[in-house]
Parts: sequence; structure tokens; C-alpha cells
Amino acid sequence: MLKINKLCKKFNGKIVLDSISLNVKPGTIAVLLGPSGVGKSTLLRILNNLEIPDSGTIMLDGQALDLKIVNRSHIVGMVFQQFNLFENLTVEDNIILPLEKTTNISHEEAVKIARLLLEHYGLADKASSYPASLSGGQKQRLAIARAVALKPKIICFDEPTSALDPLLTNHVAASIQELAHKQFIVLVATHDTTLAQRLQSTIYLMKSGSIIASVDSKDFYTNRANYPEVDQFLAGFAQEVDGKNNLR
Ligand code: ADP
Ligand code: MG
Repeated sequence: MLKINKLCKKFNGKIVLDSISLNVKPGTIAVLLGPSGVGKSTLLRILNNLEIPDSGTIMLDGQALDLKIVNRSHIVGMVFQQFNLFENLTVEDNIILPLEKTTNISHEEAVKIARLLLEHYGLADKASSYPASLSGGQKQRLAIARAVALKPKIICFDEPTSALDPLLTNHVAASIQELAHKQFIVLVATHDTTLAQRLQSTIYLMKSGSIIASVDSKDFYTNRANYPEVDQFLAGFAQEVDGKNNLR
């Protein structure tokens, strides 16, 4: 279980995360939903050690996540919006090299793991190609495979649909849902209401660095009227964000 407790972060004196608390169990998905600028990426970046929080705690399975561990990729995997693949490495090496660098498994074993994952993600025939030759959807699947190879407990997605054709939203949702079925702790930061509606999750609606509503997606869809803020956002009427009228 991941327990985030009272996480706070300011940038240049401006509060970006204002005492965020949430728990995520293995096998479940937390969707951080909200328009741009509310702090979704910052929260994921803190989990990935790309930012340091000002205060608050992050516990995993009853132990504090040690923020000083430089390579957290075995605990937390991240699938970035722009995928952040290693463009100068082949598809296969994008998985093999991080494995070899951060574990002491043999090259043969790393190759085996990479091939199984490429097979699973429909990329087996691309093993020797370079990322530049992949479609957006394929790049994302490679980014997922690369994260999964390191067997993290937690996998984070930052705006997983924003660089892709909207027609792929169902596929993206299916890939994310599958990770939950495999018992990962999954966090998804998104402003994409369509994606949010495709995931079986707990939805955390964020506004100005705070979680203003949280609801299990099943409960939400059986009784939308009980959750007016989430309903309004998903209906596309989110307004007054950071003082602007910002629909997304
Ligand atoms: P979201 O992902 O919800 O769009 P972010 O977490 O990216 O929001 O950003 C929240 C706020 O923090 C924004 O106002 C953004 O400009 C600011 N911010 C994010 N990262 C930094 C940074 N490294 N330095 C200064 N301000 C930042
Ligand atoms: Mg963001």
C-alpha cells in the first residue's frame, strides 16, 4: 500500500501542493484528475524523486520511501508524456540497458526479459529498430515495457493520452488497467476526461494543489449527482482554475 500523507510543495513561494493525502493499494488505479496547473505532475515527480517535497511523508508497505535513494526505478516506474525513450538505443536495448545498469542479472537474462516484454506489448518485430521508427502508441508501449522490466511496485503515468491520437484512448486505458490486474500500484495524472471515464479507478479531483473530491469510479457512475465537482469536471465545465477560465 502506498500512503501519501500531507505532502506540501512550493515553487518560488507559490503553493503547488497543499497537504495532499491519498492511499493507493496494489491492484488499484488512482487517477489524479484536474485541469493544467493544479499540481498533478509535481505529485508524480515527487514520487519519482524528480522533485523534493517541502513536507509530508510517503510510505510504501509501512516503510518511509527513502527520498535519498537515487535510483528509485525499482520502486517507482514512470511513463512520461513524451515517453523519454533512449533514441540512440534500439527498442530492445531500451529495456536491456536499464536492466543491466541497475540489477546484477546477466546479459542473457536481460535479453530474455526484454524479448518476453516486447512480445507481450506487440513489439517483437521492432526489437532492432530505433524509437524514431515507432508510432506514438508503440513508443508508449515500449515506455511501459521498460518500466515494467524493472519490477517496480508503483507505476506512474503523466498525461498518457496527450501525445497520442484520441482513437488510441481505449488501448491506453486497457494497458493501464492491465497493470492494475497485475497488482501494480498505478497512478495516472490526466486532464483527459475520456481516459478518466475508461479506467476503473479512484478518481481524485484536484484544484489549486488540493484534492477537492475523491470517488470510486464505479460509485461515481452509479450516482453522479452525489459527486457534483467530479461530475462537472467530467462534463467539461471545469472553470476558474488559477484565476483563469481554463477548460482543460
Ligand atoms: P499539472 O501537471 O497539474 O498541470 P504541474 O504540477 O505541472 O501541474 O504544475 C503545478 C504548478 O507548479 C504550475 O503553476 C507550474 O507552473 C508550477 N511548477 C511546476 N514545476 C515547477 C518548477 N520546476 N519550478 C517552478 N514552478 C513549477
Ligand atoms: Mg502535468
